[in-house]
Amino acid sequence: MHSEIANGLQRGEFCVLYQPFFASNGTGMAGVEALLRWNHPSRPRMGPDEFIIAAERSGIIFDLGQFVLREACRDAVQWPSLSIAVNVSALQLLDPRFVDCVQTAAQEAGLPFERLELEIVESSFIKDFAIAEQALTRLRSLGIKIALDDFGTGYSSLTYLRRLPFDKIKIDRSFVAGVDMVQSAAIVQAVVALGRALGFKITAEGVETEEQRRFLRACGCHYLQGYLFSKPVAGAIIGEKLAA
Ligand code: C2E
Ligand code: CA
Ligand code: CA
Repeated sequence: MHSEIANGLQRGEFCVLYQPFFASNGTGMAGVEALLRWNHPSRPRMGPDEFIIAAERSGIIFDLGQFVLREACRDAVQWPSLSIAVNVSALQLLDPRFVDCVQTAAQEAGLPFERLELEIVESSFIKDFAIAEQALTRLRSLGIKIALDDFGTGYSSLTYLRRLPFDKIKIDRSFVAGVDMVQSAAIVQAVVALGRALGFKITAEGVETEEQRRFLRACGCHYLQGYLFSKPVAGAIIGEKLAA
């Protein structure tokens, strides 16, 4: 897989789509999340869930992650009203080159640091808290925002929240999908209350129905994202949506 991904990068088989997220108070598109796609010649439907894991195992996640960062920063310069969120694997975060590479990607594109958010996936986390904390602290001192992604799906969520510096948490779509049931609704309410008490912004992802939207807004989520609003789309479509 390592050489297949390396070749794919060289041949231009990877691209980035963007999924908008919206302020829950109805003030419109607040930002977009970059989501990687591989136009693989023989496996067109392979999703990032599948190949990101292979890229992490083989070590090429760093190159792949750099590609996404550069693309996303370059595209986002055209959308000055939006934040741009990029998914980051814990392995990237622990790489000593990471902070400098993020800084360079934003500077080369001309993107203000304040508009960049990095979403760190909780589940693959983090064997070395000290290194992670140092990297996150450096990134935040530049003005870059840090989100804890897929909140609630890992094993040590509360430890992460206590020990690492975040600006935002994203409630995983598995909880959002269940808010018509008592248990998931209670979990979402509790997570929002916890997040707000700690001063975080809260995004609910995977919002598919009007009922979910109403519930999540009433709970106090700051941002909503999901197919109800938009699927991930090409950068050109984001430009059109902003112009409309
Ligand atoms: P994620 O960060 O939790 O991203 C959300 C995933 O849910 C995306 O899948 C998105 O297309 C999908 N989604 C969004 N709204 C809805 C909805 O309303 N309903 C449903 N059923 N699904 C929705 P995608 O693009 O296949 O990405 C899967 C995962 O792969 C991402 O989960 C993220 O963890 C990872 N990933 C994607 N791009 C990158 C990347 O550039 N770097 C890294 N490290 N990971 C990435
Ligand atoms: Ca994400
Ligand atoms: Ca998720």
